[in-house]
Amino acid sequence: MTQTTLSLIPDFDLSARNTMALQARSRFGLVLDAPEEVPATFVLAAERGLPLRILGGGSNVVLSAEFDGITAIIAFKGRRIIEETADHVLVEAAAGEVWNDFVAYTVEAGFGGIENLALIPGTVGAAPVQNIGAYGAEIADVFESLTGYDSVTGEITTFSREMCGFAYRDSVFKQQAGRYVVLSLRLKLPKPWQPNLGFAGLSELAGRDDLTPAMVMAQVIALRQSKLPDWRVTPNAGSFFQNPIVNPASVEPILAEFPKAPNYTQPDGRLKLSAGWLIEQSGLKGFAMGPAGISERHALVLINRGGASADDISALAGHIKATVKARFGVELHQEPVLL
Ligand SMILES: Cc1cc2nc3c(=O)[nH]c(=O)nc-3n(C[C@H](O)[C@H](O)[C@H](O)COP(=O)(O)OP(=O)(O)OC[C@H]3O[C@@H](n4cnc5c(N)ncnc54)[C@H](O)[C@@H]3O)c2cc1C
Repeated sequence: MTQTTLSLIPDFDLSARNTMALQARSRFGLVLDAPEEVPATFVLAAERGLPLRILGGGSNVVLSAEFDGITAIIAFKGRRIIEETADHVLVEAAAGEVWNDFVAYTVEAGFGGIENLALIPGTVGAAPVQNIGAYGAEIADVFESLTGYDSVTGEITTFSREMCGFAYRDSVFKQQAGRYVVLSLRLKLPKPWQPNLGFAGLSELAGRDDLTPAMVMAQVIALRQSKLPDWRVTPNAGSFFQNPIVNPASVEPILAEFPKAPNYTQPDGRLKLSAGWLIEQSGLKGFAMGPAGISERHALVLINRGGASADDISALAGHIKATVKARFGVELHQEPVLL
């Protein structure tokens, strides 16, 4: 049996490890370079009597200023094409791979299936946690299986799609936060490739007979760069609220006042509204409360204007929720996790 040595880093600075650039420290940090270190980390935390939290790229979290425990960064990498048949390609990546590098890897190998999810920040391991999605695609569409460490049973389990409980920006890993650590992810990319061009901005590519996954990826990247502020320049955590899914009756007053309000019928008959549209119509685009603000470019993106803390961001988020609720009667739900 291999011996795992874990080196705790005291007073671990996380300010450069979260895309909101919040000033954040952890009593101890660990950078995990191998999946075998995950079980050992839980043992170590239990021995020390310290709480443990898992972090990937820090792009979907609002980090508290101080964490009196261990923050473990998932950093183990690796990716491969497992098999290619006439009707599919199986690809796999370790949890610490950068998600966008994995997308580029599959596209450069000539395989389509996740090109609409290009440029989403963060790691492969976190991608199934909130079932990442963009431009009419989500990871559940091409999911094959994943391996995860269950900190309750101490076992490593292979999760099928059914076991993951995927829903809109949701999964069992999010529902039972802290229990599972995703170790690796396997995707099944269908052949022949069917481009997913239903989303505004991509439909102009439809009908081209020379279309490749690389061309769609390039268009997705261009669209994202034109719409979203770059987190390296303007620190943010992407969409701060989920698009609310509501009963049609509750939307009637909104549609009576704004017949063109964006709304999308869901398979269960409910309607998905645009959280960004609701915030913008509430007059909040560009609004700021001290160091926390709402992007001028995109009403759904909360930004750190300089020196913001988790409390500043949460105060602004609370104000937005209350304003939208008062104006439209719609409840917004925060997407980034408070850690
Ligand atoms: C500019 C910007 C644009 C974005 N655009 C999109 C978008 O289009 N679509 C979308 O869906 N999301 C988007 N996001 C959100 C974010 O990129 C994704 O949620 C991403 O998957 C988070 O990955 P991460 O590694 O940074 O996770 P982190 O922020 O580090 O962690 C998020 C949560 O997952 C948990 N976690 C992390 N790794 C693991 C693991 N291996 N096993 C179990 N739990 C784990 C953490 O404990 C935490 O609860 C965007 C974010 C930004 C900053």
